[in-house]
Amino acid sequence: MRIKFWGVRGSITCAYPDFLDYGGNTACVEVEVLGRTVIFDAGSGLPWLGNELLKRGVKEIVLLMSHFHQDHTAGFNYFKPIYIPGHTINIKAALNYGGTTIEDMIRRHMQAELHPVQYDNLGSTLNCTGFQAGDSFDLAEGIHIKTSMLAHPSGCTAFRLEAEGKVLVYATDTEHKAGEPDQALIEIMKDADLVIYDCTYSEQELPQYEGWGHSTWNEGVKLCQMANAKRMAMFHYSPDHNDDQVRALEHEAQSAWAGAFGAKEGMEIIL
Ligand SMILES: [Zn+2]
Ligand SMILES: [Zn+2]
Repeated sequence: MRIKFWGVRGSITCAYPDFLDYGGNTACVEVEVLGRTVIFDAGSGLPWLGNELLKRGVKEIVLLMSHFHQDHTAGFNYFKPIYIPGHTINIKAALNYGGTTIEDMIRRHMQAELHPVQYDNLGSTLNCTGFQAGDSFDLAEGIHIKTSMLAHPSGCTAFRLEAEGKVLVYATDTEHKAGEPDQALIEIMKDADLVIYDCTYSEQELPQYEGWGHSTWNEGVKLCQMANAKRMAMFHYSPDHNDDQVRALEHEAQSAWAGAFGAKEGMEIIL
């Protein structure tokens, strides 16, 4: 299983030099496994992954959406494969939005007032499949997914991807309650080889942002230790943290637990 980070930032892109060591693009993670391409989230890193997939000739893609906040969708309209006939994008997301379907959510992002090309004029085939957070399903033979609902405004989904005897967990955009670890998340993280976790704030900043739906490295490390996970990639950095500040948080996290490290745009990990 090969994992590559194309966007590690939360909330908004940060296109300034003092953000570019960790990276300025928002949430997008590529997983290549058993000859398939699986993508977590469509943040502003996605268009660059799209260009790479075109070069590689990849025609079929699975896109797993944690939720539809803008930092997780900003790259979708500029993901070239959606415009090219012969490409198939299988989009899966939890139905957290009442009667709104996944197709409705994508149509909204492409409505005429917001984007020049609309959903019905895309060249590719888009297959949208909704599920309920908590469901499990197979993406293909040998690639199993488990999901869980995270504590985030309008809901968000954590994904556990199991393949070739390895376990990757993508759990971003979640707000923890001090002293009340998310038991469903611990279950999803159980014995994971790598957990990608929401490390938006420092513990000092957290009280100012109650209700915003984010977490800290401290909680991530606790959850990983309780779940016996092997490593944690810090992810979804605050746009208020430049490289020096993220580096300081990464050092703190690493001194607390050797399994923690800061995800960087362009970083590749093989499990
Ligand atoms: Zn986010
Ligand atoms: Zn969000």
